[in-house]
Amino acid sequence: MAPKAPAPAFVATVASVRRLGIGTLSVWCRRKRSGNYPCSHGSTVPVKPFPDDTPLAAMARRLRCVECGARRQVDPDWRELAPPAPLTNFVGEALPTRNNQGR
Ligand SMILES: [Zn+2]
Repeated sequence: MAPKAPAPAFVATVASVRRLGIGTLSVWCRRKRSGNYPCSHGSTVPVKPFPDDTPLAAMARRLRCVECGARRQVDPDWRELAPPAPLTNFVGEALPTRNNQGR
């Protein structure tokens, strides 16, 4: 029996982000600045204007941080999948919101 060919490497594209139900990319700068502090400048980019076959790595190569000029990292904006965490006070009690104030 011939050995199986290795599966092709997964390449994250705009289409794979859309399949997750995510419409926004999270773009972050990971360069270390003086004092070993990360730059961490970030923004979001909508996926809507980009073709399905656009690799996220290709987008990352073309994006530059406006703060330090480094290349950026592009990921799906995972926050779109997570429900918002309720705001709590210092002892973990939920803070009143419009929905639970009883008004
Ligand atoms: Zn930066």
